[in-house]
Amino acid sequence: MPETHFTPESAAWSDWRSQMHHRITTVEQLRDWIHVTDQEEHAIQASAGRYRWSITPYYASLMDPDDPLCPIRQLAVPSLREFESFPSASVDPVGDTVHRKTNRVVHKYPDRIIVLVTGLCPVYCRHCTRKYHTMDAAGTYFETHEGTSWDEDFAYIAAHPEIRDVVLTGGDPLTYGDDRLEAIIARLRQIPHVEIIRIGSRCPVVLPQRITPELCTMLERYHPLWLNTHFNHPQEITPEAAAACDRLLQHGIVVQNQSVLLKGINDDLPTMRRLLTELLKIRVLPYYLYHCDNAVGISHFVTSLETGRELMRGLLGYITGFAVPQYVLTTPLGKIPLWEESLHRDSTGTWVENYEGETMYVNDLLLFDDKGQEQGGK
Ligand code: SF4
Repeated sequence: MPETHFTPESAAWSDWRSQMHHRITTVEQLRDWIHVTDQEEHAIQASAGRYRWSITPYYASLMDPDDPLCPIRQLAVPSLREFESFPSASVDPVGDTVHRKTNRVVHKYPDRIIVLVTGLCPVYCRHCTRKYHTMDAAGTYFETHEGTSWDEDFAYIAAHPEIRDVVLTGGDPLTYGDDRLEAIIARLRQIPHVEIIRIGSRCPVVLPQRITPELCTMLERYHPLWLNTHFNHPQEITPEAAAACDRLLQHGIVVQNQSVLLKGINDDLPTMRRLLTELLKIRVLPYYLYHCDNAVGISHFVTSLETGRELMRGLLGYITGFAVPQYVLTTPLGKIPLWEESLHRDSTGTWVENYEGETMYVNDLLLFDDKGQEQGGK
């Protein structure tokens, strides 16, 4: 569709900085890729002064130019539904601001923290649960400008020996150049009790060009290091995305996926099964399926709990066990598993139910104390 613009045929298409430089931020630029509907145009105009939006040319190239319901389009192009009011919607449903200890450190769990490295993302996902942080045009709740010192953040981590797991997130930490990112990771590695480092990045999905051999070689120096990414739909699993994940894996960086259950995108069983099984084919491990948070600006993506449970019932047993993610709700109290118990107790005894609804009593297989607490196997 584009004739004179930055295209897959452009010499610099595979350069991540050029992709960032050519990000789509206006209706006119978007028209190079899709037939923009009136609603999309109005939503983009309404976003000005409220929500940021940008789309990498690579991600735009995955869109169906003629179908406004194309999942890639819904994930990246603003919608008027972002401006509707929904009951109980919160700006911070996951409690970042409740548990924030320093400018960048959020300490919610006993042994691990997240570090909000940046508010910048290559593509601003319309369903971002941190919309208040990443996309608010008025600015984020933490200071990101270059001069903001990291000393207080590192001092907090160093002073808390219980922190063994550090997740660099944002925004997308891989919007930093290699040198700047390495300076942070190297400093973390100087803290003896930090055992593992994780990076949360959507670059394998929206900007796979960012996963360069040089980046992977740098990251490899700081193992054990993991990368959590965020594929939501099988159409996002392209040869480019697969190659980016393969580069990470070749450098020993395990790649896990955290999807969000999104109405109209992946809330049907065939799509979800295809997403999960396609992830296994590129050796990315499905980790979480998040119930979409009722966050301001994203509530229109929220499904019912029963939709999520019905999906889970259609996964467990039907596809490879490790393709089935944990279905959770993120709250200020931490992640709450939403999967129904498969172990039941009633007056007739203790029984389990398999994925096909078959049941069996397991009274002889499990030991319980007087309070009904499991004591372990025989
Ligand atoms: S990449 Fe992550 S942090 Fe950025 S907008 Fe998307 S979901 Fe939010």
